Amino acid sequence: MKIDKNKYYCRNCQGLRKHEVLFTKSIGKNYTYEGDEEISWNEEYKIIECLGCETMAFCKEYGDETMVNYDNYGEEIGFYISVEIYPTLLEEGSEIKDIHYIPNEIQTIYQETLLALKAKAFILTAVGFRSIIEAVCNRERILGKGLFENINLLGNSGIITMKEADRLHAVTFLGNDAIHDITKPTFQQLLAVLEITNHLLSSLYINDNVLNEKLSALTKDKLSAIIKTEDDFIRLILFKIRNYSINDIITIEKLLGKDIRRISKTDVRNFIMALHKKIKDNNFEFLNFDELLDKQIKSYKIVKIPYSNIITN
Ligand SMILES: [Zn+2]
Repeated sequence: MKIDKNKYYCRNCQGLRKHEVLFTKSIGKNYTYEGDEEISWNEEYKIIECLGCETMAFCKEYGDETMVNYDNYGEEIGFYISVEIYPTLLEEGSEIKDIHYIPNEIQTIYQETLLALKAKAFILTAVGFRSIIEAVCNRERILGKGLFENINLLGNSGIITMKEADRLHAVTFLGNDAIHDITKPTFQQLLAVLEITNHLLSSLYINDNVLNEKLSALTKDKLSAIIKTEDDFIRLILFKIRNYSINDIITIEKLLGKDIRRISKTDVRNFIMALHKKIKDNNFEFLNFDELLDKQIKSYKIVKIPYSNIITN
């Protein structure tokens, strides 16, 4: 009955990996009796180590002769065993990595909800996801009558899109059924809800923060040096545009501010000419000419705000 495949799910590699079994203790190898029935069962406890990344885990395996796999014709095709691994892990779906950006009260519910999901406590998981949405509404000071209205208010206020609001309604329905009707959701339903929740929390609390960190690192590493190439000049321009809004009118001096000192006068002239050519040829989508004075370009209108990956790449 024992299936010794030595492949277990590694929480660090996030996949099935070969493990070395460092220690095994088997119990219940023999027989137990239920009435007159004799059932053979086997339980093993193991300490395992991933051969790829050396992550350690504890594993409990159980199998008995009632645990039989059948083919489509109802024929027995062998036994299966149940495998539990500790610390518990999520074999499908993903967890938010930069969780420290999420406000504390929401972070706590998120972590507990994931613990429930990993422990396969599906009703509590559904309730947890519903509580996350409630906590987000409280945090964003959305104070409607009930969660249904609050989600619509989140959408109407522009904090999330209406499409996201529709998805959140689905999350709360699942939570409501779990609380009121004790309806157990499926693992796949909960994985979908996890994805919706991750998306919500990332767009509200994480993406901007990660972006800001990247940009400040960029300021220190790349933008403090003397600018000698046209590429670096364009990167600086893009970085500066992020401080403005669409339709703002600016001069190049205002845009560059003190950073203009980092470019030699000859280079500034050449880089600006190159920038003008890009704008004229429609090769620079972020600025447009605003005012021409004596055929000289005096100011620019911001027509698009660059995303971070444009700047950092
Ligand atoms: Zn591993």
